[in-house]
Amino acid sequence: MNADPLELQKFADLAHRWWDPTSEFRPLHEINPLRLEWINARAPLAGKQVIDIGCGGGILTESMARKGATVTGIDLGEKALKVADLHSLESGVQVRYKLIAAEEMAAQEAGQYDVVTCMEMLEHVPDPAAIVRACAALVKPGGQVFFSTLNRNPKSYLFAIIGAEYLLRMLPKGTHDYQKFITPSELSQYLRSAGLEVAGLKGMGYNPLTKIYSLNDDTSVNYLVAARRPL
Ligand code: SAH
Repeated sequence: MNADPLELQKFADLAHRWWDPTSEFRPLHEINPLRLEWINARAPLAGKQVIDIGCGGGILTESMARKGATVTGIDLGEKALKVADLHSLESGVQVRYKLIAAEEMAAQEAGQYDVVTCMEMLEHVPDPAAIVRACAALVKPGGQVFFSTLNRNPKSYLFAIIGAEYLLRMLPKGTHDYQKFITPSELSQYLRSAGLEVAGLKGMGYNPLTKIYSLNDDTSVNYLVAARRPL
């Protein structure tokens, strides 16, 4: 199985706080409108079949359903999925959540999705290229796939680990493992090997003084990639 039990445990320990916007998941809440609008601008979500890989408690998942998409969220974290399910019951936003590996889902529902999203997840799995291949299998020809992850270089070590975990304490220590960060060229290589074409690249920045996140062209720390499966 392409999963690290210690990684899953880290998220399980925090799962009850997933929808608390002041919790460890605060950064995900704050970046969500930015990534949602970026995705929706490139692939208008209303009426689309969407799958969110590594959906966690459903922050992005639910917001895509609110845009009018029919959304499935999958993860290997049982607690997160329970929280996600409960939240969607409470909010009345319909989402289908499933505890299943991306590779298994790809075998079951190949080519069924207009849009595949996989955010802040690749840097937590042993074999990210296999997840990329699963995403490529899930998307329809002509459909779009969106990823976000952390770049690997001295600046990303300084900002994403020292800054976010030790200085600003935005994330618990040990949230991220520098060795697992992925450069845009590595991710592009995985995408091409999986038969996807890179269609767009965007950086995401955080200003610690204003505490505001924004999308920009600096991909040196957090970044998003849009890809397309050729027709
Ligand atoms: N994508 C969500 C959550 C990111 S947190 C968002 O951006 O809002 C990372 C998530 O990846 C957690 O929910 C964790 O359980 C999940 N995860 C880690 N390893 C995984 C694996 N091998 N398969 C599926 N999900 C995994």
